Amino acid sequence: MGKVTFDSNVETINGEGFQLTRLDKVIGAARSNSMWPLPFATSCCGIEFMATMGSNYDVSRFGMERMSFSPRQADLLIVAGTISKKLAPILKQVYEQMAEPKWVLSVGACASSGGIFDTYSVLQGIDRVIPVDVYVPGCPPRPEQIIDGIMNIHKMVKNESLRRRHSDEYKKMLQTYNIESDGK
Ligand code: SF4
Repeated sequence: MGKVTFDSNVETINGEGFQLTRLDKVIGAARSNSMWPLPFATSCCGIEFMATMGSNYDVSRFGMERMSFSPRQADLLIVAGTISKKLAPILKQVYEQMAEPKWVLSVGACASSGGIFDTYSVLQGIDRVIPVDVYVPGCPPRPEQIIDGIMNIHKMVKNESLRRRHSDEYKKMLQTYNIESDGK
């Protein structure tokens, strides 16, 4: 009987006609290979993200070419560009509307720290309003760097404990942002 391998990084025990692994590893592999990103792109870094989507770089090879513009159907928020303080509550609302489990990729200097815009009107990093999982440096980052950030997110997703979202630490972390956990 042929061996069915769903992810080469998942540890398995193989025998004649069977393959054993852990449920959390299967769920991690499924999640990380089928992410639905929501691009929250506001300026030049958004253009770099568009290039990352294009045929030269091609995020569809990660099973994530289907962009979701509905937060309720997305599990990866990609923030690319300058976020003004006026826009910050909207970004937070989009994050809150996403169901758990969800991850956040901050693309470029502006999203991560305000970048060169140390002004009264620009948010000095999106982690002032929502938690961030991976930061991509650069102004703008090249598509290769964005892909590196995406791959780091994939590693986190693949290895995340199924209990993390229920843990007190996670709920406390959300409370520091004044965000309620949806308990899922
Ligand atoms: S980090 Fe640079 S390229 Fe990206 S949005 Fe800011 S100014 Fe534009």
